[in-house]
Amino acid sequence: MTADDLLARHRAVLPSWMTLYYAEPIELVSGQGRRVTDARGRTYLDFFGGVLTNSLGYDIAEVREAVQRQLATGIVHTSTLYLIRQQVELAEKVARLSGIPDARVFFTNSGSEANEAALLVATNHRRSHQILAVRNSYHGRTYATMGATGNRTWSPTSINPLQVAWLHSGDRLRGLLARLPEADRVDAAAEDLREVLATQTSGDVACLIAEPIQGVGGFVHGPDGLFAAWKKILDEHGILLISDEVQTGWGRTGEHFWGYQAHGVTPDLLTFAKGIGNGFALAGVVGRAEVLDSVSGISFSTFGGNPISTAAGNAVLDYLLAHDLQANAARVGRILGDGLRAAVAELDRVGEVRGKGLMLGVEFVHPGTGAPDAALTTRIFEACREGGLLTGKGGLYGNVLRMGPPLTLTEEEAREGLAILVDAIRSGVA
Ligand code: PMP
Repeated sequence: MTADDLLARHRAVLPSWMTLYYAEPIELVSGQGRRVTDARGRTYLDFFGGVLTNSLGYDIAEVREAVQRQLATGIVHTSTLYLIRQQVELAEKVARLSGIPDARVFFTNSGSEANEAALLVATNHRRSHQILAVRNSYHGRTYATMGATGNRTWSPTSINPLQVAWLHSGDRLRGLLARLPEADRVDAAAEDLREVLATQTSGDVACLIAEPIQGVGGFVHGPDGLFAAWKKILDEHGILLISDEVQTGWGRTGEHFWGYQAHGVTPDLLTFAKGIGNGFALAGVVGRAEVLDSVSGISFSTFGGNPISTAAGNAVLDYLLAHDLQANAARVGRILGDGLRAAVAELDRVGEVRGKGLMLGVEFVHPGTGAPDAALTTRIFEACREGGLLTGKGGLYGNVLRMGPPLTLTEEEAREGLAILVDAIRSGVA
């Protein structure tokens, strides 16, 4: 069967809103290290890792063997009504790493479910359906998480089970913060929160949910210290802080293990997904016992914390820590980020290179006006693929090229990918 047959069959049987990347969509059939091969036999260096999901690279022996050992027992699933050794072991590690005192961990299958659980816990604990969320955020595709997602493009429903008051702090091009000098941004964000609390809520608010770096939003982040400034105010009202670490967790940003740590404050609840499974469906929420234990009735998920995904999670986490991949993300991320910045410094079509560690975005704009240029971004994105590099694309205006390679990326691979990227950018803007 050719890839074209598969595309026709895909279009005939899957919903029309299931977007496929690339003018000529690709089917990946094998992977090794940081490289993947498609059904036509073309090999790519993968700088997107299935949307920042592949944290270790492809075909990691330690993970494969851990999953195979579990498969060989015949117990692929069990039930959370029975003891699951791998689940307990992983929960102990995640609780310790979370930085949250007296932490409990609840495992789910996806980031959406993790945020859904966190929102359920927070709203129940606080007995309020009012929440605070950030414009242009993305938290998932269940009803509550779409409700907390700060952009209609990514939240295609008018039904919202939550009452949401929106903070400005993620805005970039049109936003409040972008116009201010760096030094004043934390104060402005704190002021924004006070004002939103006073004018758009009855004061009786359950939580604030935020991504340390907005992922789908185009790798936009507020100034370091922002969460601490927010938390000071939230604590005055007993409002919980949820840090959505679905993209920023597990050392991805290089400087810290969690994105929230850049802010010098600990959230009440932390949600995780993507990188911990290295492709296996594994996610969850961590919170103080007093908060997580306050809810009964979410204690059962058929597949959350199942022996296969938690066997994978343990192997991934052990590998990540043993190889200090956070340090590698910082080191190789610097090579990639600095290289990119130097290469595009003169180009008036590049608005900004931003992000941290191995979470890097390049924003493309029209010269002069600085307006987003999605068409140019798409041309460069396609040129990268033709050159043998997979990247992501996104942002609020579709004008950000997103890079989130496996955290095992080597210096040589970073330079190889950088060369393809720079070629694609130069030919795109020419
Ligand atoms: N939160 C963030 C920050 C995300 O980036 C995503 C996925 N892109 C989600 C939540 C939802 O995760 P999932 O797709 O696993 O449901």
